[in-house]
Amino acid sequence: MNATTIDFTSAAVSRAVPTEACIEHATASLVTSLPEDGLGFEHIKKHILNDVAPAFTGSSRCPNYYAYTTGGVTDAALFADWVASTWDQNVQVHLPRDTVATSLEATTLRLLQQLLSLNEVDFPGRIFTTGATASNILGMALGREFIVAEAGRRKSPPIRTSVAELGILEACFQAGVTNMQVLATLPHSSLYKATSAVGIGRDSVIVIPRSDSEPWKFDLDSLAKHLSAEAVSIISISAGEVSSGRFATNGEEMSQIRVLADQYGAWIHIDGAFGLQALVLPHTDAYKALNEGVSSFHLADSIAGDAHKLLNVPYDCGLFFSRWLNLQQTVFENPNATYLSTSALPIPSPLNLGLENSRRFRALPVYASLVAYGRIWHRDLLERQIALARRIGSYIRKSAIYELLPDDDLEQIYMVVLFRARSETLNAQLVSLLNAPKEIRVSGLPWKGQLAARIAVGTWRVEVDRDFRMVVKALEGAAAAASLSL
Ligand SMILES: *Cc1c(COP(=O)(O)O)cnc(C)c1O
Repeated sequence: MNATTIDFTSAAVSRAVPTEACIEHATASLVTSLPEDGLGFEHIKKHILNDVAPAFTGSSRCPNYYAYTTGGVTDAALFADWVASTWDQNVQVHLPRDTVATSLEATTLRLLQQLLSLNEVDFPGRIFTTGATASNILGMALGREFIVAEAGRRKSPPIRTSVAELGILEACFQAGVTNMQVLATLPHSSLYKATSAVGIGRDSVIVIPRSDSEPWKFDLDSLAKHLSAEAVSIISISAGEVSSGRFATNGEEMSQIRVLADQYGAWIHIDGAFGLQALVLPHTDAYKALNEGVSSFHLADSIAGDAHKLLNVPYDCGLFFSRWLNLQQTVFENPNATYLSTSALPIPSPLNLGLENSRRFRALPVYASLVAYGRIWHRDLLERQIALARRIGSYIRKSAIYELLPDDDLEQIYMVVLFRARSETLNAQLVSLLNAPKEIRVSGLPWKGQLAARIAVGTWRVEVDRDFRMVVKALEGAAAAASLSL
């Protein structure tokens, strides 16, 4: 293989993952001792293109990579990502007279709010992050600041206190807070990490599922009971539960949760890493359940999203929106950096809105994709992804070999299909059998204590008929390999 046979544009690849031989070759080819004299640009180009790149997964380039919601990379986003690297703009600094990057980032966040119908007046705190994990950390940090301050305001006599200023021990002591909890249903693992990082603690995440059959939904009575305990609370809404793609709330439940949150001084955070994208769907009967799942999101205090998933821009790019700009600036203020002065422009300095100071110009690929393709393209894309997922779901539902999870309801299916084999023998090897030909890639995960397989359709390369045939071929192949006939 030589450099010209590797296409490093956005062309599709047919393998979901490389062969073992490819990975072995690439690993053996790595330069493991630092050269005293560099090997040169031509050398490294060939090395990367010939030895290393063939051993990458097709996660973003193969239309049939379904293992994680990686999304792909649109041509416009890829082009803009090259430009972002070439000019290497640093959007921590807020220099609207020196670079258009500041204004472009602010504009892009507004375009995203238009795409997602999130009113920019409702959510004045907005920033790009490295991903939904970072956005969940932001949400937990803001929530923590709010609920402890709120406990202080509710004391008699009221006191003013701030975790951001005093630290968590002193602020909690002053506010009389002895217990902090995060109430959720089937939270993503990163929420546990976020609670650890901001000093709330993983053990403080309390899961309150409605029932065995609908564990992704809140038991509202139990939620009310937990909120009334001696504790301050963040309510975290899984909007798009990672295994099943189901949504924790509908519009009515969001309204009820808002009332409860206001009553108890709680904070509402939405983890919408891939679920947020459902806000682009039309309001039709086919999407009733999904429309409901993202209904009344304007009632949340903070929202985490991912652009490197369903928005199909390159890694890494996450989104964060909050209702409380001042509070966000209190938590993330980068004080006394006068040389990075904030300007007169009505754009709050990103320096005081998130974790990072120096930051990649992540906005440019998002801007490029949104402007190049527009709202309708993004809506049609998600509809195609859902159409494929539902067609696979329908096939599995009718199959004697496979079983659709978590239930038989096709209308609830978003772009995720969860399923298992009815035969324990097949099920035990299902994921490896499906993945063995390396044409598609699915992930395996536990669901209610049993192994299950998951197909997550995230890429813009989706073509419903073609990809449906690929998946059926894999499902039939796995059954045949386990000597079960369909
Ligand atoms: C992927 C995902 C995350 C973590 O996002 P990263 O982009 O990997 O940081 C968080 N929550 C949910 C529901 C996810 O699907």
